[in-house]
Amino acid sequence: MKYVSTRGEAPPIGFLDAVLAGLAPDGGLYVPETWPEFTPEQIAEFAGKPYAEVAAAVLGAFAGDELPADVIAEMCTEAYATFTHDAVAPLKQLGPSLFLLELFHGPTLAFKDVAMQLLARLYDHVLSRQNRVMTIVCATSGDTGGAAVEAFRGRANVRIVALFPEGRISEVQRRFMTTAADANVACVAVQGTFDDCQAILKGCFQDDQFRHAVDLSGVNSINFARIVAQAVYYFTAAVALGAPARPVAFAVPTGNFGDGFAAYVAHRMGLPIARVIAATNSNDILARAFEDGRYARGAVAATQSPAMDIQVASNFERLYFEAVRRDGRETGRAFRAFAETGLLDIPPGALALMRELYTGASVREGDTAKTMTATHNGTGELIDPHTAVGVAAAHRARLDAQTPLVVLSTAHPAKFPDAVRAATGVTPINPREGQGLAGKPEKFDRLPADAETVKAYVRAFAKV
Ligand SMILES: *Cc1c(COP(=O)(O)O)cnc(C)c1O
Repeated sequence: MKYVSTRGEAPPIGFLDAVLAGLAPDGGLYVPETWPEFTPEQIAEFAGKPYAEVAAAVLGAFAGDELPADVIAEMCTEAYATFTHDAVAPLKQLGPSLFLLELFHGPTLAFKDVAMQLLARLYDHVLSRQNRVMTIVCATSGDTGGAAVEAFRGRANVRIVALFPEGRISEVQRRFMTTAADANVACVAVQGTFDDCQAILKGCFQDDQFRHAVDLSGVNSINFARIVAQAVYYFTAAVALGAPARPVAFAVPTGNFGDGFAAYVAHRMGLPIARVIAATNSNDILARAFEDGRYARGAVAATQSPAMDIQVASNFERLYFEAVRRDGRETGRAFRAFAETGLLDIPPGALALMRELYTGASVREGDTAKTMTATHNGTGELIDPHTAVGVAAAHRARLDAQTPLVVLSTAHPAKFPDAVRAATGVTPINPREGQGLAGKPEKFDRLPADAETVKAYVRAFAKV
């Protein structure tokens, strides 16, 4: 299967090339030329299967012409063996038709591990065959960096530079990155916001000379393999609750729209999804886009759910491309203009298509804290602030009571102990405390939010 750019000006390439490339050379994002589909019978057969098996089926649908089935199966088995829960992504019931999908049982306690563990094995397989060493530069709003460093550290064919916004991530998040002693890891505290980090990363990809010099690759959610890996848990959760016979709804705490778009992928592959609630914190560009039809950048505000302190939702471009019926020229025009003006008016027809699946909901800080408190009081569950944004949006949704509503629980509460303690009076226990993160020395550099300075740093690290 070939992969095309959302901006229509890059040549179609295969799955593995699209994964290694990250951003397409025309500035667009890769999507498959056509969506693979499962029949309802195939989806029904996922019920009760081990998570790794469902993952192999989904990955196989996208990469099966480039990777043998046994290699895919082995990658998935290994990737999900790093999780501490046998179900990998278990469901927990919160109310009559309200469920949490716990995605935080991986090595760095956030859902980013689900995709990153698989991605690292994909890279290993491909790069060792090509005898190639790539440089991954990753911009993180907190959890991607830790998950990427954990997945790629010590691997021979990859070096990794993680850019994080100084002072805007939690200590636990930072330590998951900065305590890695491996020589192939470098961490940079950028004096700016996550959007600054992401803009620097985009600049790195658009600089051809730099891209080739360091053999640049990206593992942000622009990487289509991450989206594929994240589509898997929509299937496992939905079939556990009666799909495909019964449609299931999802509330997705989101900022960069990675999980939001993964829901679209599962839907296009044949999973009956009743609704996707895109739940944002006060950085509500996505919620406003679905409500008002205007995708407009605002100033980034620091919140209790820092992994969603984002005002440019990269993956929204993929949905836009679909909603304008795959018109690459229009998508390129719209997102180049957005980069200049920070404003994009969604054409009415495209907005109507988006609204068939998506509703936006933005949750204020006070409601996030109240939701953590009320959830603890009502169910005994401690939830992290990102999950609380999803739960608050779910409580607000007016769905038919017969439709199960699943909230993606994107981080373990121990990753955000201060916010959880403030709301509930309880200090969450870190299940990975044994790793001794708190005692290990940290290693990172500080740089200004300037693309040229960061590029020079990456070149020096890559020794090119
Ligand atoms: C990254 C992250 C999110 C947002 O993910 P998207 O890619 O924006 O969908 C939500 N919660 C946590 C804990 C995260 O780390």
